[in-house]
Formats: sequence, structure tokens, C-alpha cells
Amino acid sequence: MTLNRLRELQAGLFSAATELSQRLSSSCGKPDARDVIYVLERTPCDAEALCLLKNRNVAPKAKIDSYWLNKHDYVRQKLVEKFVNELHETQIPVELAVENQDFTVREDVQITIKGPDGMLKRKLAVEIKTGLGVNVQQLERLMCENDLVVLVRSVTGHVVALHSCRYAEFLIESLSEKVQRTRRLTEGHIFNVPGRHCHGCCNQACGHARTRRIGHLTTLRDEDFQSDLDLFLRTLPSTMKKATDCLIQELMSDALLARGAKP
Ligand code: SF4
Repeated sequence: MTLNRLRELQAGLFSAATELSQRLSSSCGKPDARDVIYVLERTPCDAEALCLLKNRNVAPKAKIDSYWLNKHDYVRQKLVEKFVNELHETQIPVELAVENQDFTVREDVQITIKGPDGMLKRKLAVEIKTGLGVNVQQLERLMCENDLVVLVRSVTGHVVALHSCRYAEFLIESLSEKVQRTRRLTEGHIFNVPGRHCHGCCNQACGHARTRRIGHLTTLRDEDFQSDLDLFLRTLPSTMKKATDCLIQELMSDALLARGAKP
């Protein structure tokens, strides 16, 4: 019941975001519902959020050293290979997709379990982090869209399983606040919330706006690059094993439950 409420609110947020996106238009075209959801998460200031949505090509794009992206793709590839090989032994019927675009989030790996009637029973997501940062807003969206999120931090070897039902109360409250804020903006009730984010804000008409120097691409020193790659390669096998074991264990418990539920 609680998870159903979560899904309802998720659909409600998407619909409120669609309505707001339709109200906004700019020379670069209208933002879509996902743009609205992502941008509102980026800033507590309504005025900055609207400015970002109306001028989507103005904000300087972050320069990312493709080393991090390559590592991410590599971990995903290794994990899927190992997981599918082990899954094959268990004979548990699941469907798998990489870079799956859901309503409000893209899953690195998504595993779906369907019943004999073809109806969706359970959705599991794997989120891979190859840097030290963890985007909690993204985790929240992943938990709203999936029954379970397995977070894999390859640099530290952490693997954690987050069951959405465990955090349902918090997720429902958070989604309700997001729906309320989105509707408030559609009705034109906008608040300026100044803070550190005023540095580099695209809303130059606001008296709080401050300029920010655009950062250059940061590269690792030779010794840091070596130690990062060394740690990554040494940690990866045990992290892959932990992540695969975690997923198989979750799927096995699901399969056992399904068998036990049969008359
Ligand atoms: S400058 Fe600050 S207060 Fe003004 S719109 Fe931007 S973020 Fe909001």
C-alpha cells in the first residue's frame, strides 16, 4: 500500500512537472518534465530554478575528465557480465537493461521481475559510483522508481542494498513537498532564496547575483592517477563479488517467497 502511494506521488510529480514545463518557453525550446525535476533539485531558489529552465544553454557545462566515465562504463560492463553468468546458474527469470530511462531517473542497470501473467512484480536498480561523491537526490529518485537500489562504490568497495519500503515514509513526504513546490511555481508564487549558489547564478537581474570564475578541467597528478587506478583495480574484484552476491541473494529471497506463496 505504501509503495503504491509512492508510485502515485511519483506520477503526480511528473504530471505537475509537465504542467510547469508547458508554462515555460524560451528561445531554446520548452524544457520537459525531467528538466523541471532535475533543476528544482539543484537549487533551493525558485527564481534561479526558473532562470535555469528558461535559459538551459546558458549555464557553463562542467568539464569531466573522461577517465571517470570510462571507469564507470567498465565497472558496469564487468558487473553485468558477472551477474548474468551467476544468474544463469540460478535459473531465476529476470529481465535486464543498462542505462534504462525511467520517469525521473536513469538506472545504470535495472533488473525487472515479472509474474507468470507478464505483470511487473519487482524492480531493482544498480547505481555505480566510481568517484567519492554520492548524489542523494538521485538516490531518492532511484528509490522512488525501484523496490530496491544496490549502490556500488567502486573506489571504497562499499555495496549497500536500500529497500525503498524501509524509507517509504520519508520518500512520500519528500515527493509531496516536491509536488507542492512544482505546483506553487506553476501558479506563479516564486521565492528568492539567496545563498552561496548566488555565485554564478544565471539570473543577472537579481541583486544577489555574483560572478563566478569558470573552472578549468582538473587533472590528477601522476602519483594520484597511479594510486587511484591501483586502488580501483585492486578493489574491483571484491566489489564485483559483493555486488553480485547481494543481487543474487535478493533475487533468491524473492523467488523463495514466490514459491512459498503458491498453494
Ligand atoms: S542570485 Fe541568488 S537569490 Fe537571486 S535568483 Fe540567483 S540564486 Fe536566487
